Amino acid sequence: MSKFKYDPYGFPRDTLKFCSLCRTPLSTVSLEGRRRKVCRGCGFIYYKNPVPVAACLVIDRKKILLVKRGVEPAKGAWSLPCGFIELGETPPEAALRELSEETGVRGKISRLLGIYYEPSHRYTSLFVAAYFIRPLTRRVTAGDDAEDVGFFPLTRMPRLGLATHRRILRDYAK
Ligand SMILES: [Zn+2]
Repeated sequence: MSKFKYDPYGFPRDTLKFCSLCRTPLSTVSLEGRRRKVCRGCGFIYYKNPVPVAACLVIDRKKILLVKRGVEPAKGAWSLPCGFIELGETPPEAALRELSEETGVRGKISRLLGIYYEPSHRYTSLFVAAYFIRPLTRRVTAGDDAEDVGFFPLTRMPRLGLATHRRILRDYAK
């Protein structure tokens, strides 16, 4: 049996030992008021920042579009369509791409609902941009990351598995 047990909720937070640019062992120093890993070989500083995510609130005719998560965290729970923002993508572009990939629905951004902070076991912290999106199509198809997808009446919807998504919905309802 391997001595490394797979933890579905996260990888060890800081396992980086060598510089990915020049292979020098990394040093931990106090820099700009924080403990940071730096490379004494090439000078590279390993900044760690929240990871940006785009989340989609799609409500149409009093029905909300949800996906059943196929991946951790909250695997098997229902959530808003969401995903990581890729390099070179604006946050609204990321939201519409994730929406289309996870649910098959094409949409149009109505407005930014808010920016949320979410603690994360795997990434330490996430920075979530939540958009209210008007659907342009309504046929749903679950993508690779989703076990299921569907529109639910707001009055009879399943509990959302992620606390940030519950906050987004509460803020919208105000
Ligand atoms: Zn280096």
